[in-house]
Amino acid sequence: MHQIDCPWCGVRDEAEFQYQGDASVTRPDPDAGEDDFFSYVYVRDNPKGWHTEWWHHNGGCRQWVKVVRNTATHEIHATGLPRDGLPVPQARLKP
Ligand SMILES: [Zn+2]
Repeated sequence: MHQIDCPWCGVRDEAEFQYQGDASVTRPDPDAGEDDFFSYVYVRDNPKGWHTEWWHHNGGCRQWVKVVRNTATHEIHATGLPRDGLPVPQARLKP
């Protein structure tokens, strides 16, 4: 069982959390075109290595948590508040 360090609750089992998606995408400007919004909503990278993600602590405080997780090993490098800019390790695994 993996564990995630919730900034509000402390270390908890992964089963209390639900993955909610890529935290590295940013909403386009309101004047952006339809293609930009399509990409924002539907297009995602599928990286092998470090990835910044949204997780929701639905079995605990019900708050959003930002997590830097390695998609190949499931190692968690950092967790933080949604407003936090978390450091992402530069080393990536080879595809
Ligand atoms: Zn929590």
